[in-house]
Amino acid sequence: MRIRVLPSALGGGVGQPLSSFVVDDCLALDAGALGLYGRIDEQARITDIILTHSHIDHVAGLPVLVDNVYDPKPGCVRVYGTEATLTSLQEDIFNGRLYPDMIAMSKRLPPFLELRELPVRKPVKIAGYTVTAIPVNHVVPTVALIVDDGSVAVALVTDTAPTDEIWEVVGRHPRIRGIFLECSFPREHLGVAKAAMHLNSDLFAAELTKLPPRVPVYVIHIKPRFADQIIHELIELRDKRINVAVPGMTYTFRKKAEKAKK
Ligand SMILES: [Zn+2]
Ligand SMILES: [Zn+2]
Repeated sequence: MRIRVLPSALGGGVGQPLSSFVVDDCLALDAGALGLYGRIDEQARITDIILTHSHIDHVAGLPVLVDNVYDPKPGCVRVYGTEATLTSLQEDIFNGRLYPDMIAMSKRLPPFLELRELPVRKPVKIAGYTVTAIPVNHVVPTVALIVDDGSVAVALVTDTAPTDEIWEVVGRHPRIRGIFLECSFPREHLGVAKAAMHLNSDLFAAELTKLPPRVPVYVIHIKPRFADQIIHELIELRDKRINVAVPGMTYTFRKKAEKAKK
């Protein structure tokens, strides 16, 4: 399984304020920068998009991608989210004001997109993968995702305050080879991290104690403004599992391999 960490800025740079990842060129996890990055043929290869929650840094690139890849013929991109996330897409984005109501238009024209509800705590087949969504703790309903291709599985845990259930599920999973975990703020910004229900480097360190002992952890969703400080504090933890995910990089996860390679 290959997972590409999409950059958030067209000029590159550190940090990943917009959340989006592409699995094996066909499945997107979140859509923060999805329609802003890569060639049109690469965007058109994406058949399914799973959203963790409705925040703009996770969905901003969705209407852009849907518009970019539209081809007026049968078949279209499928977008998965929990009920709360799909409701927000309809009411807050595809509402005819912020963007055209492509959901309604898809009922009378060749479709732009198809919304599908993502159940929680129940594995579902999406684009050939088994995907399990587990609720985490954030200011709006948000899920972590486990994506399993049958030989390896990877967890994406973004936008959460301290949480437990996902770590119990990850701990029991026989094929987890990598965990992408957010660390949005440095130590000194604990107050704003708590208010926004994110992790700072101290809260991240506390989460690490709940994770499997030998599975690599890729740090994501680092705020660019504090990237140097956050990375310095993570290095100080001296935990061999920690890797700072590099925007633009593709990570490959193989059966029995302990560590992802470029
Ligand atoms: Zn969020
Ligand atoms: Zn976010």
